[in-house]
Amino acid sequence: AAIFGEGRLNARGYDLHDPVLLAELEAERAPFRTHAWQAGPLIAGEATGGEPVAALNPADHADTVGTVTPASAADVETALAAARPWAEAGPIERATVLRRAADLMERRFGEIFALLAREAGKTPADAVAELREAVDFLRFYGNEAARLDRPARGVFACISPWNFPLAIFCGQVSAALAAGNGVLAKPAEQTPLTAHLATAILLEAGVPRHALQLLPGDGAVVGAALTSDPRVAGVAFTGSTETAQAIHRAMAGALAPSAPLIAETGGLNAMIVDSSALPEQAVRDIVNSAFRSAGQRCSALRVLYVQKDVEATVLRMLYGAMAELRLGDPWALDTDVGPVIDAEARDGILAHVAQAEAEGRVLHRLNVPESGTFVAPTVIRVNGIADLEREIFGPVLHVASYRAEDLDAVVDAINATGYGLTFGMHSRIDDRVEQAVSRLNVGNIYINRNQIGAVVGSQPFGGEGLSGTGPKAGGPNYLPRFAVADMVQGHA
Ligand code: GLU
Repeated sequence: AAIFGEGRLNARGYDLHDPVLLAELEAERAPFRTHAWQAGPLIAGEATGGEPVAALNPADHADTVGTVTPASAADVETALAAARPWAEAGPIERATVLRRAADLMERRFGEIFALLAREAGKTPADAVAELREAVDFLRFYGNEAARLDRPARGVFACISPWNFPLAIFCGQVSAALAAGNGVLAKPAEQTPLTAHLATAILLEAGVPRHALQLLPGDGAVVGAALTSDPRVAGVAFTGSTETAQAIHRAMAGALAPSAPLIAETGGLNAMIVDSSALPEQAVRDIVNSAFRSAGQRCSALRVLYVQKDVEATVLRMLYGAMAELRLGDPWALDTDVGPVIDAEARDGILAHVAQAEAEGRVLHRLNVPESGTFVAPTVIRVNGIADLEREIFGPVLHVASYRAEDLDAVVDAINATGYGLTFGMHSRIDDRVEQAVSRLNVGNIYINRNQIGAVVGSQPFGGEGLSGTGPKAGGPNYLPRFAVADMVQGHA
C-alpha cells in the first residue's frame, strides 16, 4: 500500500449473509437478469470483425447472454500496428488510473455479478471472490509500479482463461500496464463479454487506446498471430500446459530471444489427511477445495490421500457434507455448485467418469439438474495420483488411501507427476507436516485449511514444473518480469 497510504489493500467484498447487502445486491443485478451484452474488438483503429456469434448461459442454453464479434485477422494486424507502450504516463499516474478502474468495477458490481453468473456460471460466492481478486490485482500492481525503476518491455500479449474471466484478465493486463507496457488482450473464447466489460472500464478510467486493445476470438486466429509476431515483447498466459508449450514454441520462432513467457498452467493437486486430522475440518476443506467453482480452478484438489485408519470415517462424513451441496442455477444465492463452462468441458469430464464407472471405481455421485452443462460432484477411487493421466477440470475428486509408513512414497508420487501447483495437508502433528512439505516441489502449500483462493498481496499464487514459469501472481516478483531485466553496472 505504498502509494495509497495505510488504507486497506484488499477489497472488503460482500458478505452474502448480511441481509442489507443482499438486498442491495439483488437490486443492483436484477436489471441484468435478461440484459444482452455485446463484445467485439476494441482496437485503436477501424475494426472489421468476423461473423457474430451468440453467447449462451452454461446453466441454461435457452438464455442468450449476448453477441460476440470475433476479431478478424485484419483487426489483429490493425491492433499490432497501433500498439504502443503506455510511456507517456509515469508509475504514479498509471497506478491512479488502475485504481480508478478498480473503483469503477466495484461500483458496477451488480452488472458484473450478473455477467459472471450468466456467461461463466459463477455462483454469487464465486462472483464475490472474483471481483475482489480483480480489484485487488488492479490496486496491487498499480502500487507495485512505484517500486519498479526499470523500463517497460514494449507490448505484451495477455492470453487469459475462462475460469477467472475477470480476475485473471485484470491481473495479467494490469501487471503489464502498471509496468508501462502496451497490451493486446486475447480473452478465452468462452468469456469475451466479461473481458469486454473489463476493458471498457479500464479505458473509461483513462488507459489510452493504443496501450490497451481487446481482441476476442479464436486461439488459432488471434492467439497464434500474437504469439508469433516480433512486435510482441512478451506473453502472459494462463491455461493448459499444452497450450503454454505451443505458445513457447511459437515465440521461440519469431519473438526476440529476451521475450518472456509468463505462464500459469495446470496442476494435479493433492491433499493428505492423516489420522491426527480433525475430520470435520478436513471434510469442509475437501469439499471447498474439490467442488467449489465446480472444480474449475487450477488450484482445485484432485487427489485426496487419506490415511487408512481414518478413511472410512472421512469418506462417510464427506458423503454427508456433499449431500448438503446445492447444485443448480448460479444466479441463485444459495447455489454452491454451478455448471461447468460448456458442453465440450462437460463431455470430457463425463467421459472420464464413465470410464471410472465401467471399472467400478465410482464411490459416490450426486444428482445433476437436467438442463445446461452440469456435472455432478463425483468421488472416484484411485490407487494413487499416478493413475491420473491428465488434469480433470471439474467437480471430480479422486481418493486413495495410504498407510502411515508410506508418507514418503506418497510425496514421491506427487512430485513424480511433474506438476507442482497446490498441495494441502490436514494433520495436527508438525513433524509429519514437515516430513511431507520439506520434500514437495509445489508452489502453494496449505496446512489445515482449504487449498484454493490465494489472496493478492498476502498469498502469491503460482506453481513450478509443468504448472508454470513463475513468478507468482499477486506477489512482489511478478511485476519485474514485465519490465526489462535488471541492468548489471559495468561489464561482466
Ligand atoms: N488463484 C486461484 C486460486 O488460488 C486459482 C487460479 C486458477 O485457477 O487459474 O484458487
